[in-house]
This record gives sequence, structure tokens and C-alpha cells, in this order.
Amino acid sequence: MSRVRRHHGAIWWVGALGAAVAAAWWLFAGSGTAWYWRAGPALIWLVLLAAAGGAAITAARRSDRHDALGRAVMASSPDAIVVVDEHGAVVELNPAAERMFGRSRDAVVGRALGDGMLPGDAVWAQEGRQEVTARRADGEAFPVEVSAAPVVGLAERLQVLHVRDLGERRRSDRAASDLAAIVQSSDDAIVSLSPEGLIESWNPGAERLYGHTAAEAIGRQISIVEPRGRPGETPAMLALVRRGQAVEGLETLRVRRDGSEVHVSLSVSPIVDAAGEVIGIAEIGRDITARKQVDRRVAYLAYHDDLTGLPNRLMFAEHLDLALARAQRHGREVAVLYVDLDDFKHVNDTYGHGAGDQLLRQVARRLERATRATDLVARHGGDEFLVLAADLPADGSPGAREISGTIADHIAHALSVPATIDGATIAAGGSVGIAVYPEDAGSRDELLRRADAAMYRSKEVARRSPGAAAGPGRAQVPLTARMQLALERGEFVLHYQPILRLEDMRMVGVEALIRWNHPDDGLLAPAAFIPVAERTNLITAISEWVLDEVCRVARPWVTGEMGIQAAVNMPIARWSRDAADRLLRTIRAGGLEPGQIVVEVSESSAMVEPDRTQAILHDLHRNGVKLAIDDFGTGHSSLSRLTEMPVSTLKIDRAFVRDIPASTHANAIATTIIQLARNIGADALAEGIETPEQCEFLKREGCTLGQGFLFSPAVPADEVEPLFERFAREPATR
Ligand code: C2E
Ligand code: MG
Ligand code: MG
Repeated sequence: MSRVRRHHGAIWWVGALGAAVAAAWWLFAGSGTAWYWRAGPALIWLVLLAAAGGAAITAARRSDRHDALGRAVMASSPDAIVVVDEHGAVVELNPAAERMFGRSRDAVVGRALGDGMLPGDAVWAQEGRQEVTARRADGEAFPVEVSAAPVVGLAERLQVLHVRDLGERRRSDRAASDLAAIVQSSDDAIVSLSPEGLIESWNPGAERLYGHTAAEAIGRQISIVEPRGRPGETPAMLALVRRGQAVEGLETLRVRRDGSEVHVSLSVSPIVDAAGEVIGIAEIGRDITARKQVDRRVAYLAYHDDLTGLPNRLMFAEHLDLALARAQRHGREVAVLYVDLDDFKHVNDTYGHGAGDQLLRQVARRLERATRATDLVARHGGDEFLVLAADLPADGSPGAREISGTIADHIAHALSVPATIDGATIAAGGSVGIAVYPEDAGSRDELLRRADAAMYRSKEVARRSPGAAAGPGRAQVPLTARMQLALERGEFVLHYQPILRLEDMRMVGVEALIRWNHPDDGLLAPAAFIPVAERTNLITAISEWVLDEVCRVARPWVTGEMGIQAAVNMPIARWSRDAADRLLRTIRAGGLEPGQIVVEVSESSAMVEPDRTQAILHDLHRNGVKLAIDDFGTGHSSLSRLTEMPVSTLKIDRAFVRDIPASTHANAIATTIIQLARNIGADALAEGIETPEQCEFLKREGCTLGQGFLFSPAVPADEVEPLFERFAREPATR
């Protein structure tokens, strides 16, 4: 523009100079006429000149304003504007054009437009719109639309070019049409909604998934696909999205037009405008019925052997765990039978893997037939199978070992019959090993190991005496003998679980709980060995060790500043009368008062011979020992018996505490025991408190004491004092 202004200025100056020269010439150089006659016209010339100059200055000022305006318009225009002269040289360009071409004004002004910016035939010379390819400084080509218009009223021929980048618009047009195509062809149901949940768009995927056509759905509420059973889910979700939050992968049910239900995974997100306002809701629904089926199949495969269809070792392990827990609680026995085919490798090598697989399938069916309906047959892997015989009587006739021996005989017999596979007769044959809980082993892994070892021994026997029928093997060293050894080697340890007063959450006692630090199996829980010990006199030796240990270790806690009580579990069912005397002697010998020790007696053991135990308990009570009835609620004590017992604590069994507060049954039992304790002047102690809700409920009902993982599990002796201090310091946090 400045060049245009310079152009005006030049015209004016040339004009003014010409007029002044003419006036001077008139005045001084003219001839003939006297100067004063010439002065008149000269004056007129000068007046004219001044008037012309004034007009020119005004025009120049106005043109300056126009220039400034023009510059401002150009600078603020989002479109690129380039002014070129008639040769196509750039006279001016605006910042948008600088950005578009990637060149600075200084580098471009004076340079031909055709020189690397707008190649092609003189676009600047042609009026109207044209689409051409432009180029940036870095050589990148891009489509533009150029509209050229001449600047009128100038001597010079200037053209103003508006240049629009078409790539930008094409890209956004393209993105929009791509998106539409994706939405149209997507298998997912893609739906847009108003913030209130009115359907605004409905793609073919939604038509297929929900059965409503777009015409039927648009304008209706999204609740048309909400199943009846779940009112409120959609409104809650929409409310969330209206607040700007997204819902990802929500697995739920939707209902089709025909009323059938479909499992879907929903992702719902807000559609926001430039100001961040939620103006709509996008919902993508995916049919996950197939995946649900796959999940079920995967779950099946996780627990079954594909080849034989039998449960696999994982399922076997879970069933065995359950069987052991039941056996422990109800005093039953459990047998594990380990079955291994003889010479299976030879079958595979001779007849091929296909025949091997068929043999395994046949063996699976034979095992199922040879065992009882209640036994679990599983494939352990390869040619090894497992049988679980649970809930065997502890001292019935026939006993557990006899029953499992019979099952083993049936299995051996079933396998001794040759199998016919693809016309060939294959002698299957197999060896069986047995391990019985609790006699041979107390834990799942040990039972399996022992059954396996027994199976190998029976194979050995068969090998050394060919022709001998495969028979069940025996575990070698009985568990009781190994426990005796453990006692001698000092493999037992005591852990201590804090007991808290619920009123102020202070630690007022500990319960000593035994563990076996087994050299092979690590730390074993009492369930793995105490029930077996309790069947023999070994429990007496173990109990003596426990009491000695508690008196030794707990003395500083009990007699010192902590001043807490220590509880020990005592299996009173096997006690002789002098056991009570021994207990009192041990307590005193350890430097303790009898009142500092609580003896826990399980409800069922106390009721085995109620008369005898009652005498012992009264004896202990007279001497100041406190008594707690353990696992209360699981035995069958008669209330009259109970009220006669000198009990200071009733321990509510974990089984009831576990189901509090969800089970009204458990709640009622706990409340009743608490009431009962209050009536006989005893404390109620809830075992196994795991959640704050359980704790709250029990406290509210008047339970005075509690122990459980919510506060702490049983810990080694050296952690007891720090725990006590923690509870003293921050009682309110628990
Ligand atoms: P118990 O006397 O009823 O002991 C409480 C059991 O509950 C302990 O199991 C303890 O670890 C567990 N327990 C505590 N709080 C929770 C909880 O919040 N959740 C769960 N799930 N469990 C919790 P542990 O140590 O395995 O002892 C089991 C049983 O073995 C004892 O039941 C007791 O009958 C017996 N026992 C333990 N130590 C000895 C002992 O030294 N001598 C004798 N004769 N029996 C013992
Ligand atoms: Mg106990
Ligand atoms: Mg208990």
C-alpha cells in the first residue's frame, strides 16, 4: 500500500513544482507586459496552486486513512491476501499469507509470485476464482482457491488476490465423511442422544443390535432398550455423562425390539461444544454375547481336561481343600488315590498318539465306573489320574483306609482288562497309591506327595515280582511319628494374635496359636497337624510345650506394664485330672499368676465328657485360671450345662462373624451369644473380625472383646510389643 501512496505523493509534487515554475516564469521571465500586469495572473496561478496543494494534502490524508484501514483489514483477515502488480510481482501481502506460504513479507515483496509460490499461468492476471496448486517455502504443494480483483482508480494496474487453503477444508470435509462412513459401517451400535436421553442418531449397527430401525428409534428415549429389571441404570449413567464424565466398558444388559436380552459393553461419553458445554451424548454399544460364551468355555477349560472331559488338577485341588476343611470340622477322613498307567509310553510308541489318546479316554470312563458316585475322578496330566474319596468315617467300620483300599482294588481290576482300540488289543494296567488324611498327611500338597510316593512303591513291587497284581501302597512314616520328631527338634513355634477391648480398641490380651515350621513345607497351620495329634497322646506333649513356651515368652507382657492376658488353646477332652495340677504348676513355675492365663477350651471338646471336664474346669477356676469357651455356637452344649461352667469368656465362632451383617441368621446367633454371655456374667469375644462393618455391628450389640485380621493376624513374639504400643497410640484408627 505504501507504494500506492508514494505514487500519489509523486504526482502531487510534480504538479506543484510545475505550477510554481509556471508562476515564476509568468512573474519574472515573461516579456512585454509590465511585472504588475503579470503579477495578477501569477497570483491567480499561486492561489490555484495553493488550492490544488490543499486538496492534494486532504486527499493524501484521506488516502493515508484508507491505507491504515486497508492495512488493518489485511492484517486481521484470516484469508491470505496478496497484492501483485501487472507483472505478477508481489507488492504487499498480509500475515495470513506469510503463514500460508511460509515466507516472510520482506523475503517476498518485489518477488514474482510465479517464483515458487503460485506456479502456473499468470493467475494474478485473471479475474474470478480459480483452483491452483500453491507451494510453501519448504516445497510442499497444496491446493488453493485464488480470487483475483483489480484495484481500481490507480494508474498502476494492481491485483488483489484472496488465497484460500483448500487442503484445510478438504481435510475437515474428508474427516467428517470418513467418520460418517465408519459410523455407518461399524458393527457396534453407535447412537447419539440429547443430554436428556432422546435418540438423535441411530446407525445400522444399532438397528442390528437392538432391532429398532433408525426411523423407529430417532426421537424416542434411549430407555426403549433398557430391560425392565434395571430401572434407574440409564438415568444414572446419563446424569454422570451430563456432568462431563465418561463411562467406559460398562457390561450390562439391553433389551431388543422383540423383547430378548443381549449382553452389551457400553461406552458413553459427553459431546461438548467449544465452550465445554455438554450438548449431547455419544453411546457405543458392543454385543458381548459371544465373549460371554467364550468366558464360560474358558472357565470350563480352566477346570477340565480337554482330552478326557474329566476335572483337571486345579479343580481336584479345590475339591480336596474343601474336603479337608470339612473333614477337620466334622472329624472325618479323606483319601487321595493316585493312579498311573503302566507302560503308557510303550502304547504311544507302538500304536501312535491317536491310540494313546483313545486309551486315556477309555481309562477315564473305567475310572468313573470303578469309583463311587461321590468320588471325584480327575486327570492329573499325562497318564496320571487322581481320585478323591471324601467324608470317610474316622472310626467307623469299615474305616477310611479299608474303603479307599476297596476303591483301589476296583480301579486295579478295571484297568487290568485289556482295551480294544482300532482293532488292536492293548493291555492297559495301572498302579494305585493311597494317602489318607489325617493319618498320612495333614495338608493338600503333602497328601498328594504321599499318594504319589505310595503309587511308585506299588509300581516297584509289581516290577520286582512280575505277575503280582498292582495293589495300593502305604505312606511310610506316619504323621504322628513325624510330629514327635518335630517336637524334639523344636520345629513348633507360637504366634500371638492380639485381643482388643472393642470399647476403646486397646489391646488387652493375646491368643497363642501354634505353627509347625516344617523343613520341607514351610510354616504349617494347626489344621494340618493338631487334629491328628488330638487323636493320640501326642497332644498332651504338645500342649505342655505350648504352655511352657507361653509362660516363658509372655511373662513380660503379662506381668509388666502392658498387663495383658495370654490365652492358650487346651484340648481338654484328653485331660487327666492331674493335667490341671500340672498346668497350675507350670504357670506358677513360670512366675505368673493363674489369673493372667486364659485357657481356651472348644465347646465341642468340653461336651465330650461333660461331668469329667466340668470337674477339671471348676478346679482350674477355683485356682484363679480364667476359662474361655472357644468356637462357641458350633457345638451342642446344653444351656443348663453351660450356666454351670465357671466361664469368663464366650468366643463367638468365626463362622458366624464372617456372615455379619449380611446374614440375619448369623446376626441373630451373634446377638444371642452376646446376650447369653451378659446373662452369665462373661465377656463375649468375637473371633475372625475382618471388616469394620462386622466390628461396628458387634460393638453395637454389646460384644466386649474382639480379635481378627481387621486388627492383626497372629504375629511372631517379637512383634507383640510394637503392636501393643500401636493400639495404645492410635486406638481410634481401628
Ligand atoms: P481357634 O482357637 O479358634 O483360633 C482362631 C483361629 O482363627 C486361628 O487360626 C486364627 O489365625 C484364625 N483367625 C483369627 N482371626 C481371623 C480372621 O480375621 N479371619 C480368619 N479367616 N481367620 C482368623 P489358626 O492359627 O489356624 O488356628 C486354628 C485352630 O487350631 C485354632 O482355632 C485352635 O483350635 C487350634 N490351635 C491353634 N493353636 C493351638 C495350640 O497351641 N494348641 C491346640 N491344642 N490347638 C491349637
Ligand atoms: Mg482359640
Ligand atoms: Mg475359635
